Amino acid sequence: MDLTAVPILDQHCHALLRDGTVADAAAYARFFTESDDATMHARHVPESVFYRWAIRELATVLACAPTTEAVLAARGRMSADALAQRLLGEANIAVLLIDHGYRTDETWPPAELAARVPCRVLPLLRLETLAQALIVQHETFDAVLDAYSARVERARADGFVGLKSIIAYRTGLAVQATSREAAAAAFGPVKERARRDGRVRLAAKPLNDYLLLRALEIAERQAMPVQIHTGFGDADLDLREANPLHLRPLLESGQYANVPFVLLHASYPYVRELAYLAAIYANVYADVGLAIPHLAAEIPTMLRQLLSLAPATKVVYSSDASQIPELFWLAARWGRRGLGTVLDELIALGALDADEALAVGRGVLGGNAAKIYELPWP
Ligand SMILES: [Zn+2]
Repeated sequence: MDLTAVPILDQHCHALLRDGTVADAAAYARFFTESDDATMHARHVPESVFYRWAIRELATVLACAPTTEAVLAARGRMSADALAQRLLGEANIAVLLIDHGYRTDETWPPAELAARVPCRVLPLLRLETLAQALIVQHETFDAVLDAYSARVERARADGFVGLKSIIAYRTGLAVQATSREAAAAAFGPVKERARRDGRVRLAAKPLNDYLLLRALEIAERQAMPVQIHTGFGDADLDLREANPLHLRPLLESGQYANVPFVLLHASYPYVRELAYLAAIYANVYADVGLAIPHLAAEIPTMLRQLLSLAPATKVVYSSDASQIPELFWLAARWGRRGLGTVLDELIALGALDADEALAVGRGVLGGNAAKIYELPWP
């Protein structure tokens, strides 16, 4: 099944670098791994299936030899804007939902990104980044909490289509009901560090949990979608704390039944756990970004596992791509191909007819997310 003509709504990704030039091969390899280790970038990442296949694929679209040197030379002959136009255009990506809380200073803000890519660009509000900025700005816990609540309350009015939490990175997904007093007590040392360093990394569990739950209360009243990082990601993550099953008490509480929870990154390696949650709870959705493109040849396996248990309306495409347009193009190509492979299998099995399979493909690539975020979609 060829899904090339089906447009994509990339429901979770990040912005492109302002300066898109790449110094050398090791700097390029950095974009194809979640590792921060320079030895990984220089020696091992180029030996990964993901990287080798990516170079071969990029050589086809850039019309060059399938080597890192040739790909770097070919991209270097174009301006960063021309490369972005070309690759995102070829990828047939209609909409990007951008979390600008990652590499914020080095990348285009969503409004400026929109002028550079042939896609509609809409922002997501990253909660922990917002809270960190407010902790630096304000002196007291009450002042931070008031400003934070106000910003989340008017997120929709400010143009954000949803919220995003990276609490899995900081204090884990086992979010607990926390009193205002406990959160206020945790605020003291955090503010002290902010005063000393002029910035702060929010990683005090009572405070993180309290602020997330505060945002969820607001999201519940507004039926606002919330993306939650689950599974693998940056190297500072304790993967054990990123199992989406930790969210069960929060889902079971019934307090956030109006919040569409979009659990990111296929929760990899907890893919089947995610499929289960999406199969049980009406308001849980399974995102596939980062797993696409990083899993490369195993992308169909991941999609097969999700679609084996979760209803087709619960699976949503994204790339989690950032910084360079190649990742958006590659994820779109491999996402469509992997989905096509699995849908062909289901047709061959007699599980779906061709029309039903195409409808599933359209839903996963964009239609399902368009419903969640209430966006117009063909
Ligand atoms: Zn992301």
